[in-house]
Amino acid sequence: MMPHPSTDLFVVGGGPAGLAAALAARRLGLDVTVADCSQPPVDKACGEGIMPDGVRAARSLGLELEDAGPRPFAGIRFAAGAESVEARFPTGTGFGLRRTALHQFLIEHARQAGIRLLRGTRVTALGHAGVWLDDSFVRARWIVGADGGNSAVRRWASLERSRRDSRRYGFRRHYRVAPWSEFMEIHWGDGCQLYITPVSASEICGVLISGDPRLRLEDALPQFPRVAHRLAANPSTRERGGVSTTRVLRSVWRGRVALCGDASGSVDAITGEGLCLLFQQAVSLAGALAAGDLRLYRAAHRRIGRRPAFMAGLMLLLGSSPRLRGRAIRAMATQPRLFAQMLAMHVGELSPIDFATNGLALGWQMLTI
Ligand SMILES: Cc1cc2nc3c(=O)[nH]c(=O)nc-3n(C[C@H](O)[C@H](O)[C@H](O)COP(=O)(O)OP(=O)(O)OC[C@H]3O[C@@H](n4cnc5c(N)ncnc54)[C@H](O)[C@@H]3O)c2cc1C
Repeated sequence: MMPHPSTDLFVVGGGPAGLAAALAARRLGLDVTVADCSQPPVDKACGEGIMPDGVRAARSLGLELEDAGPRPFAGIRFAAGAESVEARFPTGTGFGLRRTALHQFLIEHARQAGIRLLRGTRVTALGHAGVWLDDSFVRARWIVGADGGNSAVRRWASLERSRRDSRRYGFRRHYRVAPWSEFMEIHWGDGCQLYITPVSASEICGVLISGDPRLRLEDALPQFPRVAHRLAANPSTRERGGVSTTRVLRSVWRGRVALCGDASGSVDAITGEGLCLLFQQAVSLAGALAAGDLRLYRAAHRRIGRRPAFMAGLMLLLGSSPRLRGRAIRAMATQPRLFAQMLAMHVGELSPIDFATNGLALGWQMLTI
């Protein structure tokens, strides 16, 4: 499609965040153009798990993810050595959904909504009143940078300053094996985690995540004998790597430019909250654009990020100390209610006050086992 000379909203990047922001703004009546330098459907290293709060956030954008062919999962299981603990989500289910299927689904919705999609089109610069695509210029009242963790829009708009910035490295591969449990599983190893998401009746997605860019999935598998024998012989895709960044920006907007999704900061991938965050951000961003006041988005963006950031901190703490992790998982295995409450907090169904009480109970349990 040829670029139109002007638009209300120009979205740079047509990944999940860009398409979600475009859909949310279109629902509020804005004329929207999205440009992405790749051709859809775009694949990416991702654990492909969407938590129930993410499923709900997608629904608030008119996206019924059930229709994209996901594999539901009932809750989360933690496993470390011989110990394991599991809990069901208080309400709803999570979805395992291949990244390419999610992208195709979002593209179809964007097309039906009348969003102008420029594929294979790179945005090369921001101007005062719009964006440059090589040698053509598109005027835009608003510009959203949804161009991922390495965002050029963030640089061009001088929004790089961050309060926190650290990285880990993820490697993803699919395996042709029927899911053996109704849970998304996190297996804790030595300085790394392997998480398993069921994505269909006959396939699972495995992601290894650690602080070492050289530690590949296949090399780490022997650390996880409980699952290694199921996976080793049955890979169905090639390994794909990605960087998981923990980044909190000082500001997510300037003038007519706002950032969304990974461009606007991110939590560690171990939380499985990246997609949920961007669906929620998209809804708030569209509301702020329609009101003509991006300060509303800044406040909402902070609020949306608080709980996942807290959970990421907690999980990274467990990851950093085998002793603490062993005690915590044993304590939660003895009192499964504690893990159920932690999971309820994770998916936004338990207040921080209740969680603090739970945290005290867990601390006591850890001291006494
Ligand atoms: C290893 C790993 C595992 C993860 N597991 C999960 C999980 O299980 N669940 C979950 O919810 N989240 C997970 N995440 C996080 C999730 O993948 C991200 O939050 C999500 O992909 C962010 O989407 P985005 O649209 O912001 O960015 P991206 O998906 O990176 O999309 C950015 C788009 O912008 C385009 N682009 C870039 N520059 C330009 C330009 N100049 N012009 C035009 N287009 C441009 C790119 O082509 C790309 O399509 C994981 C992340 C990692 C690294």
